[in-house]
Amino acid sequence: MRSKIVAGNWKMNKNQEETEALLAELSAKLPDTAAEVMVAPTFVNLASAVRDLESSTIQVIAQNMHFAESGAFTGEISADMLLSIGVQTVIIGHSERRAYFGETDEILAKKVKAALAKNMRVMFCFGEELEDRKSDNHFNVVAGQLKNGLFDLEAEAWKNIVLAYEPVWAIGTGETASPEQAQEMHAFIRKTITEAFDANIANTVSILYGGSVKPSNAVEIFSKPDVDGGLIGGASLVADDFMAIVKAI
Ligand code: PEP
Repeated sequence: MRSKIVAGNWKMNKNQEETEALLAELSAKLPDTAAEVMVAPTFVNLASAVRDLESSTIQVIAQNMHFAESGAFTGEISADMLLSIGVQTVIIGHSERRAYFGETDEILAKKVKAALAKNMRVMFCFGEELEDRKSDNHFNVVAGQLKNGLFDLEAEAWKNIVLAYEPVWAIGTGETASPEQAQEMHAFIRKTITEAFDANIANTVSILYGGSVKPSNAVEIFSKPDVDGGLIGGASLVADDFMAIVKAI
């Protein structure tokens, strides 16, 4: 059985007070759901978020981490630091990290391995740019990102992987992949993993869709058989919108 997951990536939004307020609202409004619900506040508010959600089933996850254990990496955060405050899951490979912070496939592969070595759960993000889709190269790009980031892992490691397919052209743009485009790519991802590993891994890994998911389109996107939930940016900053998306799953 694949986990259904709805995760909110808050990016560089919400100060301490706003974080507390949004978490309180989310806890109060969380519907009964079998899905895993996660939020990723900024690093400075992670520890307090874990405390604030102590009695909630909402999980606090990190937006990023460094691959090194410790040392001279000014401004960076290690897996051990996250674990020490009770954060077990980390987003790796978000397109904004790739585009604005120069995170290459090689760096991301190191981050994935570093997190898995500490028994963390990794939410690995990937997806094509608009030009890739226009030139019909989107399947190649996605296959390449998966291969470079994840395909030299041991089969056993996949139990701690969640995938988030996020076409870059749909992130924060208000444009969404159609449910059919999302389904087509998610099925392709499972086929690619089956070829590289096996059908069991391909069929048990959760694959989230991300890219302008909103209350108005979530039901249709989540109704597709290979879509196991969503990674939500903008709409995760508004409690009623995020909870409507949680209800949609
Ligand atoms: C994201 O940043 O992962 C994302 C999907 O953002 P948005 O929902 O705002 O498009």
